[in-house]
Amino acid sequence: MTRRLGSGTRLVLASHNRGKLAEIADLVGPHGIETVSAGDLGLAEPDETEPDFAGNARLKAQAAAAASGLPALADDSGFCLAALAGAPGVLSARWAGPEKNFAAAMARVNAALNPTGDRRAWFVAALTLAWPNGETATYIGRVDGVAVWPPRGTQGFGYDPMFLPAGATETFGEMAPARKHAISHRARAFAQLVAACLG
Ligand code: IMP
Repeated sequence: MTRRLGSGTRLVLASHNRGKLAEIADLVGPHGIETVSAGDLGLAEPDETEPDFAGNARLKAQAAAAASGLPALADDSGFCLAALAGAPGVLSARWAGPEKNFAAAMARVNAALNPTGDRRAWFVAALTLAWPNGETATYIGRVDGVAVWPPRGTQGFGYDPMFLPAGATETFGEMAPARKHAISHRARAFAQLVAACLG
């Protein structure tokens, strides 16, 4: 039985990414949950050493819950290509280098693909809620599509301009944010978490 987060709970957001923090705070805010970021509590960011998204989300959420004594929520996500056996996957941020150059990361992905071969691609997001006693609940969201080249659009972030979701005519980089958020991997994982643990 998954534990629920009641109204008035203080929840640690185990992320140091401002975009993600704002997105998660917006989601849980309407449920009467007060959020505080791991950075605000001075918590260290653990190394993402696990081979999959769920493992890394769990690692980040458990570290924050144990260090703070509060429930904590972490997200781990990435871009995957069928022809690259799921790469860059958990290494999506690292393919952009320390300077976070996603134009270079997208060019690297495209160069690794055969122009007329398999272009299937997907985004994955894992969200883990952890309690100070070590208990966790993890929810996974995924959105499928294809990798396009050249990149299109200036909205969103990361690999958005080269991802065309199945059934869409606009890439995530061209879509209005509300459209992306209606179908994204992160939104799908959030919907499961809300249904199971909030409200
Ligand atoms: P994390 O902070 O380790 O979870 O890294 C996630 C990385 O995956 C980001 O830096 C992006 O490169 C990529 N990524 C995850 N979600 C998205 C998305 O919605 N659009 C574009 N890129 C994404």
